[in-house]
Amino acid sequence: MTDALQRFIFENCEVRGEHVQLQQAYLDVLASHHYPPGVANLLGEFIAAASLLSATLKFEGSLSLQVRGDGEVPLIMAETNDKLEMRAIAQGASEAMSSEFQRLLGGGQLAITIDPKKGSRYQGIVSLDGTSLAECLENYFRQSEQLSTRLWLCADGQRASGLMLQELPSAAPNPDQWQHLTMLADTITDEELLSTDAETLLYRLYHQDPLRLFEPKQPRFKCSCSRERIETALGNLGDAELSSILQEQGQIETHCEFCNRRYTFGAADFPQLTGAGAPTRH
Ligand SMILES: [Zn+2]
Repeated sequence: MTDALQRFIFENCEVRGEHVQLQQAYLDVLASHHYPPGVANLLGEFIAAASLLSATLKFEGSLSLQVRGDGEVPLIMAETNDKLEMRAIAQGASEAMSSEFQRLLGGGQLAITIDPKKGSRYQGIVSLDGTSLAECLENYFRQSEQLSTRLWLCADGQRASGLMLQELPSAAPNPDQWQHLTMLADTITDEELLSTDAETLLYRLYHQDPLRLFEPKQPRFKCSCSRERIETALGNLGDAELSSILQEQGQIETHCEFCNRRYTFGAADFPQLTGAGAPTRH
């Protein structure tokens, strides 16, 4: 299986869809982290969902899904951009035992943030009262965008897949057609979703409903961290703190939590970190 995100539209009704299958990108997201199985699966659903949603980005920028909850996973987030470069993380989740969505995330809110390179940032919020990420996102589209949307998401620690159906914004609602298409998609099993490419799956479901399948695009893992970004983050610690770490350890060593890349800063970097002069040695 290759990583692929593929758009399709039905020829005879105002419904569009996206299909995603992730393997290498998912393994890269999990690499160098030791997530419990339930957390790895949830993270897979997050990156599959972020990929499906990013297909709606019509400009340069990024889209992220983030939950700060009071469940076993205090923070989870997946981020992708218009080039389909993605990264994701679950923080403080090493003790999580559950595989249930509600136990993992607890109460809280799901934030969907769209951050264009040009223009202002948009954030949508939906409460986590569904029993799955797919259900929460469906609630979000119903409440915020008034768009009928269904998602099917699945991940098993090796593979992450998703399917999305959405009525076109301009469409006059056609409940019968919508029900027909979603009822067919409801027959997909998790294993089928994980192991079947878009063309095969869509033929299996919709061979009687003419549709057009577009060329696949390839999502991949790529962290957006940089020395400059880390400098900014370190700068927030304040002069006194940075100065004391430098004096105790001779250098400041840190790593990116998403990709584990190490960054080292010495006394010569101090002016950049703080915008001030180098610390005086005692
Ligand atoms: Zn990184």
